[in-house]
Order: sequence, then structure tokens, then C-alpha cells
Amino acid sequence: MVNTKLIIFGPPGSGKGTYSSRLKEIFGLEKISTGDIFREEIKKKTTLGNKIEKIVKEGKLVPDDIVIEVVNEKIKSLDNFILDGYPRTIEQAKALDRVTKIDAIIKINVHEEILIEKIAGRRICSNPECGSIYNIADINKTVEGITYVLPPIMPKNDMKCDKCGAPLIQRDDDKPEIVKERIKIYEKQSEPVLKYYQNENKVPFIEVWMNRPLEEIVEKIEKEINKLGIS
Ligand code: AMP
Repeated sequence: MVNTKLIIFGPPGSGKGTYSSRLKEIFGLEKISTGDIFREEIKKKTTLGNKIEKIVKEGKLVPDDIVIEVVNEKIKSLDNFILDGYPRTIEQAKALDRVTKIDAIIKINVHEEILIEKIAGRRICSNPECGSIYNIADINKTVEGITYVLPPIMPKNDMKCDKCGAPLIQRDDDKPEIVKERIKIYEKQSEPVLKYYQNENKVPFIEVWMNRPLEEIVEKIEKEINKLGIS
């Protein structure tokens, strides 16, 4: 696909990282995850990493000027990308508008109680070169008419990554008290951004519920993207 610019939107733990990795493979998109970029910078103890470490560990938002500069630098030479975790504020959305035109927004919906269960179960590969994601939570219930059937995504070998064999770990900001803070921040910050895209910018929305196993949701999103006829 040529010239496809997408944003994936969803609360922390809604699987947006995993969906965007799959969409990257399917459509040949460059995946840009601000969360991944920041975690990597922190791990490498770069100037940027040291500056933002405390903010990220507390689940707070990194200041707009820093995030905008990082993303603009990444996308300036790209025709195909999926943004994961950006924009999270109106300022960031407006800054993005100034440098490019977004074709569609993928919005993942999920009830909060499911999210908390799912985030508590998330495990990531400790090897930063790999970054594979697993989940030990096993969810099967209905909330407000939405039936969730979310089986665990387990590694084949006792809590070791299938791809590289490194031990699986829980992300610092996946701990329950931090998770709740992150959901609160997401709700407060995302509402105006989504409204901005719905009312002012009028970017097409692809909305899906995170209530079925990964591949089914990916297929749904893929069909919707193809329907929009972007390319
Ligand atoms: P994520 O993996 O997308 O949940 O991001 C992890 C953390 O990185 C967030 O809790 C923020 O501290 C920071 N972060 C990531 N993306 C942004 C953004 N667009 N604006 C501000 N902070 C961000």
C-alpha cells in the first residue's frame, strides 16, 4: 500500500500495540509507537530518556513540545505509517495536522473492568530488540451487552519469550495503581482529541470492540481499511 497514514487509538492495554504490529505486517506500514520510543530512550539512558524517566514511570504525559519534536522527526520522510499512542492531546493533533494528512483513525473500544484485568495479565519480553507481548489473563464475560471472549496469549515455554527465549516481565507502568492513573489520564485527554477528529478534522473512524481474539479483530480492521480504499 502506498500513502497510508493511520492512527490507532485506544486506552492503555486495549491492544493497540499488538494491532498496529499486525497492521504493519499486513499493509507494510512503518509503526511509530511513542511509548516504545520513550521506553527505549529511558533504557539507553539518553539525554531525552533521563529527562522523561520520572514522568513515564508515574504514568503521566510527557510534555507536548518533546513528543511533537520526536514524532515530527520520525514521520518527515514517511508516506506509510501507523501512529500508536500519538496524538494524545489537541496540541499534538494540531501539530500533526501541520505536517501531514491522516487517512483514518482506528478506535478500539473496551470496558474499563476488562481493561484492568487484561493489563494486569500483560507480560512483555525483557529483550528490547524483541518486545513481544503476551497475556496471562483469561476473560470470558458479558459487560453491558458486549460479550468478551479473550483467551490468554501464553508463551510455549514457562514464562520465556517464544521468539528469543528471554524472560517475560511486567512493565513498570502496568502495575494496578499506575494503570488506573493511566486510564484516568487517557479518558481526560483523549475525549477532546477524538472530538477534534470527529468534528473539526473529519478523519474517517474505524471503530471496533476489543471483545474477541486478536486475529478476529485484526481481520475486521483490515476489511474496514480496505473498504475505505486508501492507497
Ligand atoms: P504507551 O505505551 O503508549 O502507553 O506510553 C507509555 C508512556 O509514555 C505514557 O504513559 C506516557 O508517559 C508516555 N507517552 C507515550 N506517548 C505519549 C504522548 N503522545 N504524549 C505524552 N506522553 C506519551
